[in-house]
Amino acid sequence: MKIAVTGGTGFIGGRLIKHLRSGGHEVVNISRTPQPPDLGVTTVTWDELQSSPVILEGFDAIVNLAGESINRRWTKEAKERILRSRQVAAAQIAWVVERLQAKPKVVINAAGMSIYGTSETETFDERSPHRAVDFLSSVCEAWEHAADQIQGTRLVKIRVGLVLDKQEGAFPLMALPYKLGVGGRVGSGKQWMSWIHIEDMVGLIMYCIVNETISGPVNATAPHPVTNQEFGRKLARTMHRPNLMPVPAFVLRLIFGELSTLLLEGQKVLPRALLEYGYTFKFETVEQAFADMLS
Ligand code: NDP
Repeated sequence: MKIAVTGGTGFIGGRLIKHLRSGGHEVVNISRTPQPPDLGVTTVTWDELQSSPVILEGFDAIVNLAGESINRRWTKEAKERILRSRQVAAAQIAWVVERLQAKPKVVINAAGMSIYGTSETETFDERSPHRAVDFLSSVCEAWEHAADQIQGTRLVKIRVGLVLDKQEGAFPLMALPYKLGVGGRVGSGKQWMSWIHIEDMVGLIMYCIVNETISGPVNATAPHPVTNQEFGRKLARTMHRPNLMPVPAFVLRLIFGELSTLLLEGQKVLPRALLEYGYTFKFETVEQAFADMLS
C-alpha cells in the first residue's frame, strides 16, 4: 500500500513508519523540515504538498499525527500553537484531499481522548458526548471539527489514550521514581488513566486502514483502564519496588502550572468501537504492558 504519514518524526509516527516499512509498504513522511532525522522513507514538506497536492494522488491512506507537543508549560502562546498546529494540519489534509482525482481510501486523523472531559466516576465510549470543559477537551473538539472537513473519503477519528512504551513517551518518566524507590500515587490517585501499549497503537491504526467498515470516532485505549493509584501499585509490584511516596497535587501545580491537569485529572475511556469491529488487543491489561516494557 501507499501510505502518507504526518508527524512521522514523532513518537507514534516513527513507530508506525517502522512498522509500515517492515511490511513492505511505500511510505511518505510529511514534515515541516525537508531533512528530518533519517526515517528511511521519502519526506515531503507541508509547503511542497501545498504547491503540489498531486504528490498524494492515488495513495491508499493518509495518517495525520502532526501537532505541537503538549508537554510544555501551557503559556498563552504555547496553547495557541498547540491548538492551531492541529487545526492547520487537519485543514491542510482536507484541502489536499479535495484536490485529488484519486483520493485516499482512508484518512486516519489522530486526536485525543480528552474530548470527553475528565471524571472520576463516569465511563466514556464513542457514544458519549463531547465536553469542551477545559483546554485539552476544547483542543480535541476543535481538532476533530477541523478533521470533519476531510470529505470524499473514509474518515477515522482516533481518540488516543496515554501511549505506553518502554523508551519513548511518558512511561520512562513515570517509571523513574519507582526505579529510584520513591514512587507513589499522584495527587488523590483516583484519576483514571486510559492507556494503550504502543504496539496496539500501531496495530489499531493498521486495522483501521485495512478494515473498510470502520469510520468515525475510534477510542485508542486498552479495554482495562486503571486509576493512577492502581497504575502505581501494579508498576511497583512488577518492579519489586515500594509505592509509598505520594506526590501532592499542589507540588505538581506549582511545577507544571495548568499542564498539571494532565497528571491530576483523567477519564475512563473504553475502546467500544474497536472491540465491536473485532480488533484483538495484544496488551489488554496494564500488568501485561508492564511485563513487556520492563522485561
Ligand atoms: P510527537 O510530539 O512525538 O510528534 C508529533 C509530530 O508533529 C512531530 O514529530 C512533528 O513532526 C509534528 N509537529 C510538531 N509541532 C508541530 C507544529 N507546530 N505544526 C505541525 N506539526 C508539528 O507526538 P506523538 O507521536 O506522541 O503523538 C501523535 C499525535 O497523537 C499528537 O498530535 C498527540 O497530541 C496525539 N496524542 C498522543 C498521545 C501520546 O500518549 N503520545 C496521547 C494523546 C494524543 P515534524 O517536525 O516532522 O513536522
